[in-house]
Amino acid sequence: MFLPKPVRALALASTILLIFLLLQLSRKAPPVKEPRIVYPDMKTDPNLEETHEPAGHLWRADDYAVDNPNSPRINATILSLVRNEEVDGMVTSMRDLERTWNHKFNYPWTFFNDKPFNEEFKTKTRAETRAPCYYEVIPPEHWAVPSWINQDLVRESGQILADEGAQYGNLISYHQMCRWNSGIFYHHPALKHIRYYWRVEPKVHFFCDVDYDVFRYMHDRNKTYGFTINLYDDPKTMPSLWPETMRFAEAHPEHLKPPSDSARPWLEDKQRRPEHNEKANGYSTCHFWSNFEIADMEFWRSRAYEDYFNHLDRAGGFFYERWGDAPVHSIALGLFEDKSKIHWFRDIGYQHIPYFNCPNSPKCTGCQKGLFTDGEDFLYKEDCRPNWFKYVGKE
Ligand code: GDP
Ligand code: MN
Repeated sequence: MFLPKPVRALALASTILLIFLLLQLSRKAPPVKEPRIVYPDMKTDPNLEETHEPAGHLWRADDYAVDNPNSPRINATILSLVRNEEVDGMVTSMRDLERTWNHKFNYPWTFFNDKPFNEEFKTKTRAETRAPCYYEVIPPEHWAVPSWINQDLVRESGQILADEGAQYGNLISYHQMCRWNSGIFYHHPALKHIRYYWRVEPKVHFFCDVDYDVFRYMHDRNKTYGFTINLYDDPKTMPSLWPETMRFAEAHPEHLKPPSDSARPWLEDKQRRPEHNEKANGYSTCHFWSNFEIADMEFWRSRAYEDYFNHLDRAGGFFYERWGDAPVHSIALGLFEDKSKIHWFRDIGYQHIPYFNCPNSPKCTGCQKGLFTDGEDFLYKEDCRPNWFKYVGKE
């Protein structure tokens, strides 16, 4: 078809313009840096998963700088089970942890109690941090002694434990606390969308400046559990824990890691304190001292751990004996987790009476380097870290 020259030129120009416009439209919008969320909004955001970084977003190296108040945060909280009467001890612990670490990161504090927190507790603890504080009551069904436990038997066995000299043997609330810390706390609705926690007790001390985000460390290095101190336990408190664990292991071989990949040899050592292993029927009694724990709740929420805890709970030893959350957590980690996922935080100076982790570092003040205990000399033999280094190593 013949068209005059100017019309052809015009048609050509508009075609080019149209193609140009279509190309522009089909191009992706330039990447816009999404606003950063400093804290996980635990209460309201139902979509919070692993971390609260926007999906697919890559952070630059300097985003992680310690002095960057907007550095991306991991989905985590500091947590503490504590009583109103312990508020001053809680303030001591908060002051140390805020000074050495949390004022740089402002992770929220979540407090748990079997009774409501009072105003004094809230006011005093809020005054110690710029981070959000949450005060949570434990649902009664999480704290109650389970229906299948025979209360007469609990009283009798509690008395026997106490007579034998097992600390807290007949204090029911201590047994409830150990059970809650073993297998219940991570089911609390306030932690539903949280993945990592740092457990802190009242009256503990932190001595060293820690300049990195330990939760990010856990996340980026793929760690499940971090500890500072590991100890022997009193075998009187758990004669049937290991036999019960072995029954579970036989029924569930699918949950077990091969001993060469796990810390199981540390659990089963009988060379260093054979009498402990004997009295605990095959368990060295070595355990991570759980008043300090930095951990990934995905492990506690896993099939392996849930099955294990339920098995133990049914067996009744939280009440008929005095199984602690420390040995229960430690045994599970030693059997079901890869040893490379357990981290010794040697750089976190820590004290819970009567033991210390006191690194030899200029970042630490207020504790004596290398000191393990300020109690009697005989307490030195309670340190189980030599076995940890022997079977697992220092990293
Ligand atoms: P220990 O470290 O084994 O001597 O035991 P603690 O007395 O320090 O108790 C361990 C943790 O659980 C501490 O943080 C206590 O505040 C807390 N705790 C123990 N029993 C109870 C209880 O009955 N109610 C509440 N709310 N907290 C408790
Ligand atoms: Mn304590």
